Amino acid sequence: MSSFPAYLLAGHRYAVVGLGKAGLPAARALVAMGAEVTVWDDKPAAREAAEGLVVAEPVLNGLTALVLSPGIPHALPKPHPIAEAARAARVPIICDAELLYVAVRAAGSKARFAGITGTNGKSTTTALLAHILTTAGVPNEAGANLGTAALSLQLLSDDGVYVLEMSSYMLERIATLRFHVACMLNLSPDHLDRHGDMAGYAHAKRQIFARQTNTDTAVIGIDDAYSLDMANSLLRAIRISEHDAPIAKGRTLPGLHNAQNVSAATAMARALGVSDEAIEEGILTYPGLPHRQELVANIAGVDWINDSKATNADSTAKALSCYDNIVWIAGGSAKEGGIETLAEYFPRIAHAFLIGRDATVLAETLAHHQVLHSIVGTLETAVRQAALFALGADPSPDVVLLSPACASWDQFTGFDQRGDQFRALAKGLA
Ligand code: ADP
Repeated sequence: MSSFPAYLLAGHRYAVVGLGKAGLPAARALVAMGAEVTVWDDKPAAREAAEGLVVAEPVLNGLTALVLSPGIPHALPKPHPIAEAARAARVPIICDAELLYVAVRAAGSKARFAGITGTNGKSTTTALLAHILTTAGVPNEAGANLGTAALSLQLLSDDGVYVLEMSSYMLERIATLRFHVACMLNLSPDHLDRHGDMAGYAHAKRQIFARQTNTDTAVIGIDDAYSLDMANSLLRAIRISEHDAPIAKGRTLPGLHNAQNVSAATAMARALGVSDEAIEEGILTYPGLPHRQELVANIAGVDWINDSKATNADSTAKALSCYDNIVWIAGGSAKEGGIETLAEYFPRIAHAFLIGRDATVLAETLAHHQVLHSIVGTLETAVRQAALFALGADPSPDVVLLSPACASWDQFTGFDQRGDQFRALAKGLA
């Protein structure tokens, strides 16, 4: 593992537009590799953060490529003017993962690339595969859509593997990147403003298999109709399902949805030459990601679980399905449709403590289904009351579960701040 050589991209000219989590490190990495780089962001504050870089609206003439932040549209719902100009000038629009591939090959490394996409489970499967590789002693670097930005990853030598989480937005912006092992986990309606319709969304996801040859591995989940379609049209694909009997069951990977992630990571690891023993050990020792059914404390025999990433009812359903006797903390700014779809899990709820702006909306649904609940306002009060309830309950609950089924913006800067606070409060009690 090392840094990329300083002269690697000398003579290439890039414009980096959108200076967020991916754009800024991409620009700095390109400069470090000797490329000529200008950067731009429509927000003045973002431009100010680009200290030491050449800030200017891009001149497209002679550009090798426009590196456009995944958050900025080039087509739907409305193309950004710079993207529109780039398309007219036939300047390729690419993402940072494409540049990573270009840089790795330019450096002469034959390191392999594994790519993971899908509507849900991308981060978990990416982190799990990387952990399995580490367990097996395979040098690897993981990141891209989540975690470390693609161009902040280190240069691996021939025996290394990059494990990249790829969003549909990124997949629309690759040009030469070829994944030796690629996985499409599942597909459900999402981001349709950008992709037009499900066909457009599926088309973007399918790019994960672009340029693969017969010696490369495609892995496709077949638990939803859209993905099954994709598997049916890519006959060499290895089909995986949440109903497969995975090789091991990790304590940090509960539920059917995680069985799908485990199956996917197992198939990919096998394709990368990892032994079944190492795969099993990797699954069993996988530490889990923060805010996704993360075990944060055990108080008087009751597990406290932080599932703050569950910002809608669908995600919360996955967590509720894992336990039988639940003290539930939920609420925030409710999503369309509320929590009515969770009704089948309501018999598992011993008591719900509701926080945030739309607590009364959730309370109405719970009252309608005769679920015991209290509106408590803040997370701090919810934790205190949940602890008292759990201590006094007979039988004792399995878990105190924060799985809000709501966005966090009404009280927090994001789901991570909400989860961090819950973890700290629970640890404080313990
Ligand atoms: P992503 O990176 O695709 O957003 P994560 O791995 O961060 O996915 O998981 C986010 C949430 O999605 C989890 O908390 C869980 O509720 C749900 N989830 C995880 N894996 C799956 C899956 N394979 N199928 C459906 N839902 C899943």
